[in-house]
Amino acid sequence: MDVLFVASECAPFVKTGGLADVIGAVPKVLEQHGVDVRVLLPAYPALKSVLSDGKVIDEYPDLFGGPARIVSVHAEGLNMLLLDAPHLFDRPGSIYLNADGVDWPDNHFRYGALSFVASRIGLDGLNGWKPDVINAHDWQAGLIPAYLKQAQMADASITVPRCVMTIHNIAFQGLFDWSVCSELGLSNELFHAEAIEYYGKLGFLKAGIALSDKITTVSPTYARELLTPEFGMGLDGLLRARQDDLSGILNGIDLDVWNPQTDPNLVVPYSTRSLKRRQKNRAAIEQRFGLTSNPTAPLFCVVSRLTSQKGLDLLLETLPVLVGRGARLALLGSGDKDLEAGFTKAARDFPGSVGVIIGYDEKLSHLLQGGSDAILVPSRFEPCGLTQLYGVRYGTLPVVAKTGGLADTVVDADSVNLKSKRATGIVFSPINAEQLANAIHRACDLFADQPVWKRMVLTAMKYPVGWDRSASLYHDLYKDLADSK
Ligand code: ADP
Repeated sequence: MDVLFVASECAPFVKTGGLADVIGAVPKVLEQHGVDVRVLLPAYPALKSVLSDGKVIDEYPDLFGGPARIVSVHAEGLNMLLLDAPHLFDRPGSIYLNADGVDWPDNHFRYGALSFVASRIGLDGLNGWKPDVINAHDWQAGLIPAYLKQAQMADASITVPRCVMTIHNIAFQGLFDWSVCSELGLSNELFHAEAIEYYGKLGFLKAGIALSDKITTVSPTYARELLTPEFGMGLDGLLRARQDDLSGILNGIDLDVWNPQTDPNLVVPYSTRSLKRRQKNRAAIEQRFGLTSNPTAPLFCVVSRLTSQKGLDLLLETLPVLVGRGARLALLGSGDKDLEAGFTKAARDFPGSVGVIIGYDEKLSHLLQGGSDAILVPSRFEPCGLTQLYGVRYGTLPVVAKTGGLADTVVDADSVNLKSKRATGIVFSPINAEQLANAIHRACDLFADQPVWKRMVLTAMKYPVGWDRSASLYHDLYKDLADSK
């Protein structure tokens, strides 16, 4: 079974969020199931050194305005196909945004090219390798089935690979003026509501959902939520029409990268048998974030993009409650300027109790998981969420909003679950500041009862958060599709 993954991010090379973690982890697990996965990824500057170790296996003299090559390379356990198109991807700074913080104006060309090249690999193969299935991840890969469909419209006798569209976050849809269709070589015949058109625009994700054979998203609850106007963000009608082809497969985490026993980013590694050692990591966090220490109340952390999706404005409102309980907060994040300013001010208003580092720091994110007592994820919507899974693995108990994958992965410390020793965290709803404050109170109360807290930590650290089960589900899906060719 040969599968082509197509995505715009991949850990550990280039990452802005959970998508990268997933793309960096799943192929390795699928290999163990006998699936040959290749990952097609843009050759951004962060991949320069990897690129130089690779072998050029295909060339395009003119790919939307410049020459391009496909470079095959094996690195970090992944078989990668790098799309080396300097005019599209060799740029400093953010992969999606220019220096002014707005989308690169040619993002349609950049990710249109990624999708187009993927379709060519699907149709022609590459060095004798041809995918049975292409798994397109998020809007950046959404045009793949459109290019495949177009090829089939031109020649009905060709066979095309099956296509799976995976939605990691429906908030990002890749909408562009319809006029770019011709520049992207897309036929007018596809510009209608059952294909690539979305309210008069070209919709990359819309195209992927409308034209793929199957659609997946990253948790069962989010799959159900997407069918509602509240969560579907305009695509719920189309998803309802295709609900027989939609499924939710829960994300897992890379158990090698996220392992408290071997994590090089921790001051001290630890296991379920040496939980006391976490205290040294906690002390390092307190020092780094300028926090006073208080063994009688929890140290909460946040590792997040700062956007309204993540509900962190609710946390800002709730900080007096958290601080009033003697608890502390260490926040690492970046994003919306008003949230950055809000948390920076909070750190000034609550010195010693609230510590804030604005920025993106992979190593520090590991330390926060390895030394905090609890991680706050009060998201308004959360397709799956990974930081709560890292929290579970590291014994940093998640305090989460009841939505999407958060609801699917955290077992609330209600009286039944506490009694049956299944509880792994705190789940609150409805999602508002009042209920978040209640959840923080509950966390503080549980923390005060150390035997109970410790029991929850141990339960969490043994909870299965790896990829095994979900990789089997992806494998089954690919097999069913390949068999139906
Ligand atoms: P999303 O993809 O919506 O941002 P997820 O929880 O699925 O949310 O994944 C976020 C990933 O990005 C996690 O691996 C998290 O640790 C990481 N992350 C988010 N913000 C930061 C940051 N400021 N520094 C380091 N890692 C971060």
